[in-house]
Amino acid sequence: MEEVWERISDAGVRVLRIPTPFQVGRVNTYLLDDEPLTLIDSGPNSGKALDELERQLGALGHAIEDLELVIITHQHIDHLGLVDIVAKRSGAEVAALDRLAPFVENFGADAERDDEEAASLMLRHGISEDVVRALRQVTGSFRAWGSRAEVTLPLRDGELIELRDRRLEVQHRPGHSPSDTLFWDPDRRLLIAADHLIKHISSNPLISRPLDGSAERTQALVTYLESLKRTRELPAEIVLSGHGEPITDHVALIDERFRLHQRRAEKLYGLIAEKPRTGHELAQALWSDVAVTQAFLTLSEVIGHVDLLVNAGRVREIDDGTVLRYEAISDTPADQLGDLIPGGNPAATRG
Ligand SMILES: [Zn+2]
Repeated sequence: MEEVWERISDAGVRVLRIPTPFQVGRVNTYLLDDEPLTLIDSGPNSGKALDELERQLGALGHAIEDLELVIITHQHIDHLGLVDIVAKRSGAEVAALDRLAPFVENFGADAERDDEEAASLMLRHGISEDVVRALRQVTGSFRAWGSRAEVTLPLRDGELIELRDRRLEVQHRPGHSPSDTLFWDPDRRLLIAADHLIKHISSNPLISRPLDGSAERTQALVTYLESLKRTRELPAEIVLSGHGEPITDHVALIDERFRLHQRRAEKLYGLIAEKPRTGHELAQALWSDVAVTQAFLTLSEVIGHVDLLVNAGRVREIDDGTVLRYEAISDTPADQLGDLIPGGNPAATRG
């Protein structure tokens, strides 16, 4: 791993690990020692995070005021919370995917609408009103760790950002969030992937409102797996994530993720084949000991995998007017469902 870090720092990339109040622990932000001097992500909006950012920049011989460009990888508050403060203090440009810019600029209102949507989704999938109400208070209080910011440099998918020492290709790869954006350095075969791919945890395909404001629920896991297939094709040598350590074999890791999602979908199918169940009942059956605060997250996981089963014609949704339940429409045993990840590497999903 030491050799990998050496290559990363030879590439003029430094990691700053900023504390967050969330279960995921520290968030990785990256300093590109280049022209313009660039920070990728910022950490959450807290005094502690700001102090750490200043201290770690200082250790590298820089101050917040030196920053000239801040790039946002996606819409989650542990990544974008400090962008506004950093941009105001430094005068740095703020770059984000064009489709993400309105969300960042209307952060408070959009996050509120996300929470409303999440609440009605949770009720539809059988989570009780008490729990939904309690969760809304929690997410409402989390919002202070985010902040709105002005996006001065909207980025197009596929665009090349030219810095003095490098080119970065902008790659929109939604799934973990609708705005996940990767930055690919083709010359160094280095990919900055944020939460799209994380070594020690599988990225949650969180159900979110589409960025275009449409009301339709997107299939977050299906979208995510499509994105992963594209990342698998990249000849990357090092992948830098939003949390945890660098990845040096992204193909093996992505194949492992395909297997995980295949197995999880099979497990859910087994539970649904026993008897029709709501999304919440399925989440409880899989993760009975998970804290109430994780209810939306586990529900997102369940719905994402059931989408795979629905798309494969194995399960259907039944609506009793209040809640949705899933019912099996196939008598195939769970371990004989075949490849539920269409176009996924067949060798990867088996086993
Ligand atoms: Zn995230």
